[in-house]
Amino acid sequence: INHSDNISYHEALPVPDSPDEVHDLGSEINQLLKSLNDQVLRDHQFVSDASHELRTPLTAIRGHISLIKRRGEQHPEIIPKSLKFIDDESARMQTLVESLLRLSRMDHVEIDRQLLDINQTVRETVDNYQPNIAQPVQLDLSPDVLMAMVNPDSLQQILIALLNNASKYSPADQPIIMTTKVIDGQPTLAIADNGSGISDDDKQRIFERFYRVDQARSQKIPGTGLGLAIVSRLADLNHAQIAVSDHQPQGTIFTLTLAKQ
Ligand code: ADP
Repeated sequence: INHSDNISYHEALPVPDSPDEVHDLGSEINQLLKSLNDQVLRDHQFVSDASHELRTPLTAIRGHISLIKRRGEQHPEIIPKSLKFIDDESARMQTLVESLLRLSRMDHVEIDRQLLDINQTVRETVDNYQPNIAQPVQLDLSPDVLMAMVNPDSLQQILIALLNNASKYSPADQPIIMTTKVIDGQPTLAIADNGSGISDDDKQRIFERFYRVDQARSQKIPGTGLGLAIVSRLADLNHAQIAVSDHQPQGTIFTLTLAKQ
């Protein structure tokens, strides 16, 4: 904070005329301090979570390097396994760092939205992404042309993240269903899978950075816990809403509601 900022802020404060106004001003300042404090705590938590997530693979990598150094010469048969481990873990770190960078860049950007044909973007994205996933993606697109104000790259990133999750967390032989329609005048996209589903408690937390449901961790399904935090941020930047609900008889639906125009 430089000096001139302080002065202009000070000058911007209203001068109270009565004891009541002094009180109001006091509680306003208290609220401001509280929200600043919350922000600092959140940032602190984020840095500490990020460090932890990076330290775990790094420790493992160093462990394997030390193993190769100590025993590699006498027991060369251990080398390929350790190298594969180092390779996998460093790839995981790279994904993590890239996701962190993407998130931090999104703190500052303004995004250009344009009027986009949603069905067309969905069709193209699914066609391009289908080879990466085992499950067949079924399209159930609105017969009407759906136009919405959205940034094309953001929409693609959101769709790919949700398709990727639907694929990771559902059996390979169960289809993923992608729907577009208009609900209450708003263009809406839904991605439904027939997977493990998400408990109501976890539904509250999956959009937090680094949050992963225990099952995802214990079954060693690859992931960083940042995908949905990025989706949520991208949705915000595009004035869109993302929501999660249950798919019947089993699985999860993610619904993206776009801004009309
Ligand atoms: P990750 O990299 O772990 O997949 P995300 O932020 O994309 O991170 O998702 C957070 C967590 O939400 C996942 O770890 C998983 O436990 C849960 N999750 C996300 N999508 C689904 C889904 N379609 N079905 C079941 N669980 C899901």
